[in-house]
Amino acid sequence: MGDDRSFYIENFGCQMNVHDSEQLAVLLKHDGWIPVMEPDGAAVIILNTCSVREKAEQKVFSRLGRLRELRNGRSPVRFVIAGCMARAWGRKLLKRLPFVDLVVGPGMLSQIPTYLRKLDGGSRPIVDIRDPESVFCVPSNWIENPGIHSAWVTIMEGCDNFCSYCIVPYVRGRERFRDSEQIIEEIGALVAHGVREVTLLGQNVNSYRSRNAGFPELLRQIQAIDGLVRIRFTTSHPKDMSDELIQTVAECSKLCEYMHFPVQSGSSRILARMNRGYTREEYLGRVDRMKALIPDVALSSDFIVGFPGETEEDHRESVSLLEAVAYDNIFIFNYSVRTGTRAAEFPDTVPPDVKVRRLEDLLQRQRRIAMDRNQALIGETVDVLVDGSAKRGNGMWTGRTRQNRVVNFSGQARPGTLVPVRIESASPNCLYGSGSG
Ligand code: SF4
Repeated sequence: MGDDRSFYIENFGCQMNVHDSEQLAVLLKHDGWIPVMEPDGAAVIILNTCSVREKAEQKVFSRLGRLRELRNGRSPVRFVIAGCMARAWGRKLLKRLPFVDLVVGPGMLSQIPTYLRKLDGGSRPIVDIRDPESVFCVPSNWIENPGIHSAWVTIMEGCDNFCSYCIVPYVRGRERFRDSEQIIEEIGALVAHGVREVTLLGQNVNSYRSRNAGFPELLRQIQAIDGLVRIRFTTSHPKDMSDELIQTVAECSKLCEYMHFPVQSGSSRILARMNRGYTREEYLGRVDRMKALIPDVALSSDFIVGFPGETEEDHRESVSLLEAVAYDNIFIFNYSVRTGTRAAEFPDTVPPDVKVRRLEDLLQRQRRIAMDRNQALIGETVDVLVDGSAKRGNGMWTGRTRQNRVVNFSGQARPGTLVPVRIESASPNCLYGSGSG
């Protein structure tokens, strides 16, 4: 590889991967590597991949096809496939893509600098998709000024739930948790670098437990960190949303009144086939409890449409649940088969046109609900944590409310400050107003 120590990371998939890529970049920089923003000319190209849907994998294959041409023009370039797809495919990736040098599962990212040295020393291609024992994160004292006021902090990784459609437990491994002391130290370091809001990250944060804290206790410890203004967390599993956790969110002033609370289906029959561990009634019971204890709570959710065996009646139950909860936002996915999961063996598939119709149906209804909820805020004043200039600017600023609603506003502001904004108009996805900062 000579003296060229430049690396380029391209990310695919979820927020967990985005954060892993950020941490991997810090790790490589500490090993003397230099990040570059474009793949052209990079000595090492790393794709941090996703395999949650077949489409995500196809995207990686087609991207690699294009990136490979870089090697034809200028040698040598090392290709690294990291993340969930690496874990799902393992050595088979080398057969399909013989120009790849390194295949590393999501739990083994910390080994990448070592493997790059081995490759420099003449090693043959390396595959490491072992089960991880800990959560991938860099030491707190390596944290640089992220130049942002809002940061992600991984508190756990992996999943023990085995929802029948999901590949995550197979590729990310079983649940493992960071020590609460380590988490507190990392957030303290971030706050010292100007961060004001943290989002705690994990496949199922509600099941967090360490030697000396469960999740509610961890939240109370984070609440006590001076200088931190807002705390969020994702993703919550409805079956693990305890009364104690809801009470904690209600009592801790820094915990935002926003919860991503993925239901997946409104039909208890489909939920059982999905192995979600709760019924429609239990889910709605948790929602009622949150609404009772946390005034102004805003909820978002994920729905899967066209799960094997989903009938029109099951779909109507998803519709009625969506209407009953009145979410602020939802993410809807067409069911897609993942080889190796239990649902891959379910025979009664739903035709693609029916999936599209059901998806559109939920989407249209949600647009109306979101519009009504946003319009109800016209005339109110909300606290906005300022992200920066609005994309389609005109001198406007953008930020988020405690309920995670995006607000574009005029007036004086600085990124990272809290500004009271009077709401003047609304669309389904955004509020508009004037700030009095
Ligand atoms: S809770 Fe279910 S959907 Fe979420 S990561 Fe675990 S298995 Fe997948």
